Amino acid sequence: MQVEIKAEPKKEDRKKKYDVIIIGAGPAGYTAAIYTSRAKRETLVISGVLPGGQLMLTTEVENYPGFAEGIFGPELMTIMKKQTERMGASIVDDEVVNVDFRHSPFKVLTYSDEYEADAVIICTGASPRKIGAKGEQEFSAKGVSYCATCDGPFFKNQEIMVAGGGDTAMEEAIFLTKFAKNVHLVHRRDNLRASKVLQERAFANNKIKFYWNKIIDEIRGGDKVSQVTIKDTITNEKQNLDIGGLFVAIGHEPNTKLFKGQIELDDQGYIVLKDHTKTSVNGVFAAGDVHDHRYRQAVTAAGFGCMAAIDVDKYLSEKRK
Ligand code: NAP
Repeated sequence: MQVEIKAEPKKEDRKKKYDVIIIGAGPAGYTAAIYTSRAKRETLVISGVLPGGQLMLTTEVENYPGFAEGIFGPELMTIMKKQTERMGASIVDDEVVNVDFRHSPFKVLTYSDEYEADAVIICTGASPRKIGAKGEQEFSAKGVSYCATCDGPFFKNQEIMVAGGGDTAMEEAIFLTKFAKNVHLVHRRDNLRASKVLQERAFANNKIKFYWNKIIDEIRGGDKVSQVTIKDTITNEKQNLDIGGLFVAIGHEPNTKLFKGQIELDDQGYIVLKDHTKTSVNGVFAAGDVHDHRYRQAVTAAGFGCMAAIDVDKYLSEKRK
């Protein structure tokens, strides 16, 4: 599908003060902007380091409603961007380097500009932790994945590896047994961090084979992954396994460094919400993976974006009474 993208406004033509600034341009950010613009709130989206968010790193998306045949992640995000622009939002591809939420209007500083807004929606998402093995980056979206729900069905009847020992790794391993011939679960220690109930479920599944005290050493292949070398953390012994896909499930890091000290974060760095989408600062809202470590889906992020936009609209109406 051909999608026409509007050019960014020239720097000198950009407005500096908006009703709402949305930081981040994944499904949460774009959806929030579609709603706030449609509600006639002047909206600026600042895209950040990875415009489009995590979906830019995936291949086909089969579980986003509305696309009967599936859609490629980057294409879905391009369409969301176009829809956001059609609703009238301004989008700048710039990175936020600082914010000042001490009083309204809030200040948002990017590499090249400074903006103000009466409300802010933080949609900076989370990034999956990387394993750091040789080949990881090269085979990202070519057999290395960070989301079993998103990519599992592409690995039917294959030998699949999962790295990690937490709840996500167990859930993903169990989920992947629906498609895989076998799931090879590699964990760096000799006992799991996952909750007992998930451990028991994983142990009871005869398609899951456990590799204790092992780390991923190297990922190899041609067009896509075909072999993974694992290394014993005690003996340093290496073992090659023929694997069609590697799912890295070693946790996520919320992208909240910028907001530390300005809004309340939990002990893992996720934004703490109260009263639906409100943060600890009146007028600053959050949506998507930046606060949600449970669902982490494009469609749930989009839903949270919609909720935050509706809350912002209400907040601005009350503030301006
Ligand atoms: P997590 O609990 O932080 O577990 C991460 C796992 O990856 C740990 O086993 C850790 O090993 C391993 N790991 C971390 N860095 C690694 C590295 N560099 N190399 C190799 N292994 C590494 O993350 P999570 O499983 O994504 O869960 C996040 C939160 O969501 C948790 O609070 C979890 O309980 C929750 N969650 C709940 C459910 C559920 O209730 N159904 C489902 C999913 C997630 P070590 O154990 O050695 O540290």
